[in-house]
Amino acid sequence: MTVTRFAPSPTGNLHLGHAYSALYSERVAKDNGGKFLLRIEDIDYTRCRPEYIKGIYNDLEWLGIIWESDVVIQSSRLDLYKDVANKLNAMGLLYPCFCTRKDIAKSTERTASNGDAIYSGKCLHLTEEKIAEKKSKGLPYSLRLNSKRAEEETGKLFWNDQLSGIHEVNFDSLGDVVLVRKDIGTSYHLAVTLDDDFQDVTCVTRGIDLYESTHIHRILQSLLELNVPEWSHHKLIKGSDGNKYSKSDKSLTLSELRESGVSAKEIRKELGF
Ligand code: GLU
Repeated sequence: MTVTRFAPSPTGNLHLGHAYSALYSERVAKDNGGKFLLRIEDIDYTRCRPEYIKGIYNDLEWLGIIWESDVVIQSSRLDLYKDVANKLNAMGLLYPCFCTRKDIAKSTERTASNGDAIYSGKCLHLTEEKIAEKKSKGLPYSLRLNSKRAEEETGKLFWNDQLSGIHEVNFDSLGDVVLVRKDIGTSYHLAVTLDDDFQDVTCVTRGIDLYESTHIHRILQSLLELNVPEWSHHKLIKGSDGNKYSKSDKSLTLSELRESGVSAKEIRKELGF
């Protein structure tokens, strides 16, 4: 059975781009007689707020979207993410990175196709003594995936996008990504991959802006022997200025549109649903 999901982060109010993504995901499930799930991706306590979670439920309900009752809340699963990070670490696939944002900005030589800075790999070359010394000083560190080691472990990998076909995993597309952030003890990549497996998602529906991340998620699925779903990276809805909607664009949030008298029916029609 097809199982899709919409997985917003409650870091702001939902806008038209989110509405498109949620409606798209619901439609893929419906067209296949499947299930549509909701997941609240609230691991980043520095940016997530309870009022935005409420907003997600209100907006989706208003749009007439129906999701399964078992909503996964990521903040309740932090211990599990930690256990899996420990497992990857014990497998020798992670390395500590003590770089600050400034260090990273200074040492970045490459940028990924999605605009993300690719980490230079500076801390990969730290000796055991240096690592111990830094740890003993209490310096905070993140844990990065050693993408070379991961490739040695998994060999060639592929993933299938229902819209664009088969893709070979590019192990270096985002460089050695952070899997355990200094501040929150996990990361988007780790949590999303574990949860799509946990929720038995068969088709990961999300915007094409997350395309590069899929390489990482496919690698993690292989390393952790998780289910391998298909993906459906949909187009991004753009504003009249040609830019994609962002959470900072307050005028286009669903709550603002609702308050200004726009109906859910009009929004569905405008977005092609
Ligand atoms: N939580 C992510 C976001 O709001 C989306 C995650 C995903 O669909 O994989 O951008």
